Amino acid sequence: SFAKFDRSKPHLNVGTIGNTPFTLPLLFIFNNNKIGHIDHGKTTLTAAITKYLATKGSAEFKDYHDIDKAPEEKARGITINATTIEYESQNRHYGHVDCPGHADYVKNMITGAARMDGGILVVSAADGAMPQTREHILLCRQVGVKNIIVFLNKCDVVTDPEMHELVELEIRELLNSYQYNGDTTPIIKGSALCALNGTDPELGEKAMEQLIEALDNNIDIPEREMDKPFLMSIDSSVNIPGRGTVVTGTIEHGRCKINDNVEMIGIRRKPQQTTITGIETFNKQLDFGESGDNVGVLLRGVTKEQVKRGMCLSKPGSMDVRRNFQAQLYILKPDEGGRSKPFFTGYRPQCFLRTADVAVDVTLPEGMQMALPGDNFTCTMKLNYPLPLQDMLRFALREGGKTVAAGVITKCLE
Ligand code: GDP
Ligand code: MG
Repeated sequence: SFAKFDRSKPHLNVGTIGNTPFTLPLLFIFNNNKIGHIDHGKTTLTAAITKYLATKGSAEFKDYHDIDKAPEEKARGITINATTIEYESQNRHYGHVDCPGHADYVKNMITGAARMDGGILVVSAADGAMPQTREHILLCRQVGVKNIIVFLNKCDVVTDPEMHELVELEIRELLNSYQYNGDTTPIIKGSALCALNGTDPELGEKAMEQLIEALDNNIDIPEREMDKPFLMSIDSSVNIPGRGTVVTGTIEHGRCKINDNVEMIGIRRKPQQTTITGIETFNKQLDFGESGDNVGVLLRGVTKEQVKRGMCLSKPGSMDVRRNFQAQLYILKPDEGGRSKPFFTGYRPQCFLRTADVAVDVTLPEGMQMALPGDNFTCTMKLNYPLPLQDMLRFALREGGKTVAAGVITKCLE
C-alpha cells in the first residue's frame, strides 16, 4: 500500500500572528483619473503607509519610485501592471495592490488576478469624485468587494473644512448608490505627501494611524475556502481495473474524506450520487483532501464513460446547475491577444470555466450595439449545457485559439 502523505508541510493559506487567525486581506488602492486632472495620490499613499509602518517595524519602507514602476503580470492571457506590497498592523497582515492606470484596475478586478477583500478609495479633496470613481465602486460591487474605506487626500492643499464636507457628502452618496453603507464608511482626512515627507504630523502621521485602524476595524476577513462545502472540478478520469474510476482535479473549496457521499454534477441535468472510496495525491494515500489539494478521487460505481471533463464533485445538495448568468466582461484588445473586430448579441465563443470548455451565447446589454476591444460592461450569457455556477467565479471567452474576453459571474440566473 502507499505511504501516508506528509501533511506537515503543505500550503496553508491560514496562519496566526499572536492569537489572531489571519488570512491575507488584499487591499486595492484605487481611483485614478488622467482626464485633465492630476492623480489623486494612490502611489504616494501606498509609499506613505509603508513609511509610517516602517517606523513601527511592521513594514519595509518602499519609496514612490519602487512602487510606481509596476511590473507586468499575466492573468488569463491579459497583461496587467500591478505592484503588490505587504505590511502588517498590530494583528493583521495585508497585501496591498497599486496599479498605474484605470484599465489595470478594471482588468485586475475582472480576471481576479489578485483577490480583493477590501479597497481603499483615494479621493483628492481638490477634485472630489470623478466619473472613474463611480466605475471603480461599481466594479467593486460587481466582483464582490465587501468593504471600502475612503482616504480623502491632499487636505494640505484644500484646507477648508466645508470643502471636505462637500466631497465627503458626495462620496457617501455615491457609495450608497452602489449598496455600500456610505453613512458608516470611514473617511480619513489627511495628506499622503505630508506623511511621506514627514511634514505636517496631523495630516501625515496621525492620518496614517487612523487609516490603519480603519483597515483593521472595517475590512472583514474572508470566509476560509476550507469552511465552505466540498467542491472539486474534474480534470480527467482514469479507469483502474478492479478498483473503479479515479477522477482528478483540484479541490476548490471545502474538504472530503473517504466514505463521504458526493454528487457528480454538471453537463447533465441530474446529479449522480456516488461515494468516495479512496483519495490520493502524488501516489500517496490520504484520509482526507482539502481546498487547494490536487487529488485523485476513487468513486464507487462510476464508469469512466459517465465522467466528462468540466463536471464537478460536490457535497450533496450544496449546489445546483444552471445555464444562465449575468457577468462583467472585459474585452481584450488586439495588442493583448484579443480580436480587432467588434462582436454583437448572439456571439458564440467557447467559455472556459473551471475545467469546462463550453459554447456560450452572449447577449449585450440593452442599448449596446456592439462590444469593442477594451470595453468593460455587464451582459447576460447562456451556456450550452448546465454547470454549477456561483457569484465571483472567473472565466475566459476564447475563439479560434484567441482569448477574446475575461469575465466574472456577477449573478446566477435561471
Ligand atoms: P496616483 O496616480 O493616484 O498614484 O497619484 P500619485 O501618488 O502619483 O500622485 C499624483 C500627484 O499628486 C503627485 O505629484 C503627488 O506628489 C501629488 N500628491 C499626492 N498626495 C498629495 C498630497 O497629499 N498633497 C499634495 N499637495 N500633493 C499630493
Ligand atoms: Mg500611481
